[in-house]
Amino acid sequence: RQSNTWEIVDQYITECLIPYDSVLEEVLLANKQAGLPPIDVAPNQGKLLNIWVQMKQAKRVLEIGTLGGYSTIWMARALPADGHLVTLELEPRHAEVAQANFVHAGVDHRIELRVGNALDQLAKLEQENTEPFDLIFIDADKPNNPHYLKWALQFSRPGTVIIGDNVVRAGEVVDVHSTDPRIHGVRAFYDMLAAEPSIDATAIQTVGSKGYDGFAIGIVRG
Ligand code: SAM
Repeated sequence: RQSNTWEIVDQYITECLIPYDSVLEEVLLANKQAGLPPIDVAPNQGKLLNIWVQMKQAKRVLEIGTLGGYSTIWMARALPADGHLVTLELEPRHAEVAQANFVHAGVDHRIELRVGNALDQLAKLEQENTEPFDLIFIDADKPNNPHYLKWALQFSRPGTVIIGDNVVRAGEVVDVHSTDPRIHGVRAFYDMLAAEPSIDATAIQTVGSKGYDGFAIGIVRG
């Protein structure tokens, strides 16, 4: 019953504040038809990412975990004409669907989709002396979250915003005895945020069409 309410309220919020967008609907449909798991962010969360990119006036965005590119498109739309978004995806099939979605959404010229294990791609970006990013969205395999945070800090400058998705996992995050490696990845991510003097962070629990979960958000100190 509770989750039904969350879903209905999410629908209400979406109807009120997020005008119908045929491209984004078609992207979700393409993902579904390609058999991708429906684990993209919800529309109101996608718009939140878009607003964060606007608030930061970000020009360079890094996303770890593309799936079909739904969150990517939301963020790419908030970039200025000379903005650039790098997104990392392990599964070639996901990447193929995402690339087609970027073309369909008319944002492919701003997006660099790199296929392969994110940890390898991040090491490559370092070798290529990539410029720091203004905003980094971590949304891939949760056991690797501590590694992704380490890389995110490396690719940051003062003021860079780092966001992590799925940091509550229906409350399981407080279960120290959990046997789920994703929970341990998320807990290690919190521990790192707590211990890392160069970032100021918080996390927020969320409920909605994607269940009960949460976002962590931090800003790199000057
Ligand atoms: N950000 C997407 C959205 O909201 O539309 C959802 C991303 S989904 C939760 C996580 C993605 O990370 C999946 O497509 C998965 O294949 C990818 N992934 C998992 N492990 C990875 C790895 N080691 N390197 C890169 N991507 C990985």
